[in-house]
Amino acid sequence: MLPALIGKTASGKEQTGDVICKAAWGAKPPSGKFKRHQISRITIHHSGVVLSDNRDAPSVLRGAQAYHQSSGFPDIAYHFMIDRHGHIYKGRPRWARGDTFTDYATKGHLLVMCEGNFDEQNISRRQLASLCDVVAWGAESFEIPLRRIKGHRDYASSVCPGADLYSRLEDGTIKRRVRNRIERGGIALEKLCGKQGKRLVRRIEAGRD
Ligand SMILES: [Zn+2]
Repeated sequence: MLPALIGKTASGKEQTGDVICKAAWGAKPPSGKFKRHQISRITIHHSGVVLSDNRDAPSVLRGAQAYHQSSGFPDIAYHFMIDRHGHIYKGRPRWARGDTFTDYATKGHLLVMCEGNFDEQNISRRQLASLCDVVAWGAESFEIPLRRIKGHRDYASSVCPGADLYSRLEDGTIKRRVRNRIERGGIALEKLCGKQGKRLVRRIEAGRD
């Protein structure tokens, strides 16, 4: 009867992605005040640390948040983080300006970080797919043109996001997939919180997801 609705979700989007809530991955509350900003560009990062076993992904994020907070940032520097298996984790609120140890103004940047060191390892298929999902969600939500999807090294003296991931920006792979995703109806990101979120994190840490 309603073929146009087949495959659509409650939000009307073709696809949905889950974002693991901060409480579920064991994040601490913010330790300081955020500065507000309006998102006008998307900037891709890597963690810069080889992640060889994805079971470690949540603990690496807890460690990053602790390090960032001890360095004077109110929270983990990024808005979204993505592990090697493509799980998406929520970072600081998107209305809050990001932070950096390098020299560029983070105001206006939606910061998306992929766990790993892409000078040393390649981005995985699932990680790249989730990255494109998050970037497509951001590009559509904040009306960001494809030319404002860049890597950290485009703004600061840094190798971030590493050679392999940066090459996917340079050769147009990420932009093409983002454009296709938006043209096919976009993606809705839904929070995975509470017991469900904690269960998924336990599964990730046990190597079962
Ligand atoms: Zn970076």
